[in-house]
Amino acid sequence: MSSDLPRAPAASGQAAGTSLGGGREGSLEAPTRHPLDWLNPAFYDEAALTQELERVFEICHGCRRCFSLCNAFPTLFDAIDATATGELQSVEKKSFAEVVDQCYLCDMCFMTKCPYVPPHPWNVDFPHLMLRAKAVRAKHEGLRLRDRVLASTEAVGRIAGIPVVAEVVNAVNRSAAGRALLAKTLGVHPEAPIPVYHSRTARKRLGAARLGAAQRSAARRGPEPAATPTETTRGRVALFATCYGNRNEPRLAEDLAAVFEHNGIPVRLAARERCCGMPRLELGDLDGVARLKEANVPELEQLTGAGYDIVAPIPSCVLMFKQELPLLFPGDAGVQAVRARTFDPFEYLMLRHRAGLLRTDFKASLGKVSYHVPCHLRVQNIGLKTRDLLKLIPGTTVEVIERCSGHDGTYGVKREFRAASAKIGRPVAERVAKAGADHYCSDCPMAGHQIESLLGAAIGHGAAIGNGGTGTPRAPEHPLSLLRMAYGI
Ligand code: SF4
Ligand code: SF4
Repeated sequence: MSSDLPRAPAASGQAAGTSLGGGREGSLEAPTRHPLDWLNPAFYDEAALTQELERVFEICHGCRRCFSLCNAFPTLFDAIDATATGELQSVEKKSFAEVVDQCYLCDMCFMTKCPYVPPHPWNVDFPHLMLRAKAVRAKHEGLRLRDRVLASTEAVGRIAGIPVVAEVVNAVNRSAAGRALLAKTLGVHPEAPIPVYHSRTARKRLGAARLGAAQRSAARRGPEPAATPTETTRGRVALFATCYGNRNEPRLAEDLAAVFEHNGIPVRLAARERCCGMPRLELGDLDGVARLKEANVPELEQLTGAGYDIVAPIPSCVLMFKQELPLLFPGDAGVQAVRARTFDPFEYLMLRHRAGLLRTDFKASLGKVSYHVPCHLRVQNIGLKTRDLLKLIPGTTVEVIERCSGHDGTYGVKREFRAASAKIGRPVAERVAKAGADHYCSDCPMAGHQIESLLGAAIGHGAAIGNGGTGTPRAPEHPLSLLRMAYGI
């Protein structure tokens, strides 16, 4: 590693550590995440960004711990190794953009690998640097039409989820001609898993009765069941169904409500909700994230003020409220109030278990479960609560797979990234296939479908999947659905 590039941060727009000296390996202190200084005009200064990219890439070049995490680091290291000097200074700047393109902001390098994260004086926050680079590009060049459409989960869902239209869209999406059209118009890879649309949304299925007293019809109005609070939970929750959960996996919300209510936890829906903003964040569209924050947070803040905790069935959406929005809006009291009362569903149930309030009178065992832990759950730093709960079910063993599935928002469906996405996810599919378990699941339903899409090749490698010997990949399940099954409700 050449030594003439500074290792301590100099660029503005990226919150710096308190000291610029040192440089010792690792840190004994817990990692600190600095807020993103995205409202500062200096954040969008391209020269300062390039300087910061050079500084951090130089540190990564000398470290290389993250070579196997995703395709961003191999893209960087290959570009350096292809130069005559083998040094970062010889790499053309256009290669920097290729590194940025390969990052899907999973946060795993920051949370699990990097010894130079703050409070280390080198202040390396690789995902936040990638986010800054995406934001600078979005600000100066705008978003591509394809990216705007793929990130418009609500608008697409609203149209594709209309009765009859949903059936047509699903049928077209299943056909070779439809996939060819999607590939041509939106650059969606023909083999990538794409969501199914439901006209009977989660909000319709859960019904007006769960909309809270102000929104319930007079005929249905009635007192909400009493809640039993604990030291850490209030015992009543508002379900943020999420745009994906509402139109693409409505059963998830039904299963969550059934399991929570079986455990004496009243569940209600927010009167209205918009996308959490994660697809916009992944594009660097921070103004778009801010607009969605303005739509969601006042309603959620009101609910927390009224004594509800917030749960959502998709880890990325939970992470948005727990971590990403608080880092983007550190001075927003509403965002901080929502952060403090937002939970992963299994985190919530295990907190109830700690207080002796989780029912363990299971009616059915699950046998062997292959359980994939999605990156956006791992970075919540709450431990493996889904595994812990499933293990409480008699006659159930859980094999945990802690590796990226390679789906990661829209990364895994885009034609140009599909090969890299499949390469990242293949070891997970191989583990699932070899386990031959009775069930396989992921807290992230999109990761589950990514694994399903890669299982065919894994079975082709001679592995067993325990699907009755048909050779056809079984569909993934969700841990909430498995839990409901074990309760027999
Ligand atoms: S945040 Fe995730 S995708 Fe981005 S560089 Fe780190 S590990 Fe790779
Ligand atoms: S992000 Fe940190 S751990 Fe990963 S290669 Fe860069 S310096 Fe090393």
